[in-house]
Amino acid sequence: MDIINILPDSVANQIAAGEVVDRPASAVKELLENAMDAGATEIQLIIKDAGRTLIQVIDNGCGMSDVDARLCFERHATSKIHRADDLFAIRTMGFRGEALASIAAVAQVELKTRQHDKELGSQVVIEGSEVKSQEPCTCSPGTSIAVKNLFFNIPARRNFLKKDSIELSHIEEIFKRVALPNYKVGFSFYNNGRLLYDLKPGNFAQRIAGVFGSSFNQRLYHIEEHTEPVSLNGYIGKKEYVKRVRGEQYLFVNGRFIKHPGLSAAIEKAYTELIPERTYPAYFVMLDVDPQRFDINIHPTKTEVRFIDESVIFSILRAATKKSLGQYSLANELEFNPSTEIDFTPMAKGHLPESPQESFNPNYNPFYATHEHEKHHEYSESTRMDFANFFGSKTIVDTKPQIAFEENPFEPQDKTLSATTTSATTTPINYLNQYIITTLKSGMVVIDQQRAHERILYEKLLSRTNEGPTSAQQLLFPVNCRFNASDSEVLSELIPDLERLGFVISPLGQNTFVVSAAPHDTKEDELQNILEQTINEYKNNMMQKFNDRNKSICLSLARQMAVRSGTALKVEEMQKLIADLFSCQAPDISPSGKRTMFIMGEQELKERFK
Ligand code: ADP
Ligand code: MG
Repeated sequence: MDIINILPDSVANQIAAGEVVDRPASAVKELLENAMDAGATEIQLIIKDAGRTLIQVIDNGCGMSDVDARLCFERHATSKIHRADDLFAIRTMGFRGEALASIAAVAQVELKTRQHDKELGSQVVIEGSEVKSQEPCTCSPGTSIAVKNLFFNIPARRNFLKKDSIELSHIEEIFKRVALPNYKVGFSFYNNGRLLYDLKPGNFAQRIAGVFGSSFNQRLYHIEEHTEPVSLNGYIGKKEYVKRVRGEQYLFVNGRFIKHPGLSAAIEKAYTELIPERTYPAYFVMLDVDPQRFDINIHPTKTEVRFIDESVIFSILRAATKKSLGQYSLANELEFNPSTEIDFTPMAKGHLPESPQESFNPNYNPFYATHEHEKHHEYSESTRMDFANFFGSKTIVDTKPQIAFEENPFEPQDKTLSATTTSATTTPINYLNQYIITTLKSGMVVIDQQRAHERILYEKLLSRTNEGPTSAQQLLFPVNCRFNASDSEVLSELIPDLERLGFVISPLGQNTFVVSAAPHDTKEDELQNILEQTINEYKNNMMQKFNDRNKSICLSLARQMAVRSGTALKVEEMQKLIADLFSCQAPDISPSGKRTMFIMGEQELKERFK
């Protein structure tokens, strides 16, 4: 008996859909790419409920004929390639002829399309691969495709969708990936009737500003290089604006967003030694490569590519990045500045070496548009001032430490720490601008300055929220901050919590907020960054470990506001930090659960010298 049969198209399409459309964002990607391929100059994206109930893309591209309007939903129906050879010369975003067939297999789709030279267009309604109707219609030239109730016939997949905020952020990311390189095309994006983005045609820089806010451009350097295997053009982040998470990193090849760990590394390598470890620059780089010399066909969702001239492109990209960093900044100083030479003059007896006052670039986000030299100076001055201001005028003398070690995850060090044992008996010194070394009665202490400061700020912030409303510090000039759509949603949610900490934030629409007051430990020019990173950390924290939202916010803020490793602290600042640390409830562990310090007692030292 023969048992093999050919699957009906509707089933085959549903199976294929599993690869092509796994969430609303992937349908958005396919529809936006089709609009681009159709030569549109204006594209609207309209979604409802993060794409669950509606995803609609309206374009003014070439439109389709009556026959094509029906054919486009067939599997392997494409106008973009005709024979196998064409696969190696692809200049369009799509080419597989699978997207519309897949989408139509798992949703209710309504297509309206008209070619520019025709009076009438056609309308096709298709549900679960079944054509419900096709008739002539009046519509504007171009194409509108509305995808309703995605996965209506696959409840399992529908139930797998994440919270709206997560699906929305995936869609937003796709939108950016298409809108950024196609800066000559106008894009608008509505969610639940709200306009999230309205991007006018312009140049690449203007597009970046349109997506990330107008202040973003001053964080970037231009990068450009034209060579035989690759032409590249775009923007890379100034080293002062690196982030602790990989944020805005975009690589495009021939207008298509790609992920390529090798080429990303080429850019990041150029920053080596210019930025602190585990921090990442932003970049927006477009590569132009002969389509014959790369293969986009190795991954179904097509963000991964292979290049024939990979190592050459790697070198060119790294060199171009270095050049741009060197051309526009004092990056070269590191290599040529004679003051960085090692000093072999022997130290006079009894003198401790003075700690260097400036390490290389301790400032993360100065937001100053001044010269590099002044920047350094300004930063360290303001750090110092902030330091002095941090928690009023508490000094070591009047500190009454109340140590509780209950939270201590590691071996208790000294349960009898008291005012006398914590008053440092020596002048603290710093090591690597990261650690503070001092002695207590109970032993020698090594403190990690950043983690310690996180602990101090965290407890301070927490106590503020517990004490009820705090008086906010009015800003002289309110600061406008702009976020992406999903961050804006989160921020709107967090406003009441942030206000309890001393912020005053009001939404202005279109993902922009005005901050008119902030806790007095915050630097105005870092507000955007602090809030952005706080939102991101908050999202991660809430997903991973916390269900206490207030603690989560305080933790994120503390981490953003803390003095960074690599910042040279003055002796008084170190003393203050030590005193503040020991008046914390849990001084020996950072709010994210890491060790802030260790004490080496006499016993242990003696052990070591045995
Ligand atoms: P592919 O993009 O890989 O060719 P799709 O399933 O996405 O496959 O689309 C099938 C065909 O439908 C395309 O090749 C194109 O001819 C036509 N098409 C799809 N979307 C549009 C649009 N917005 N405007 C004009 N034609 C379109
Ligand atoms: Mg397509």
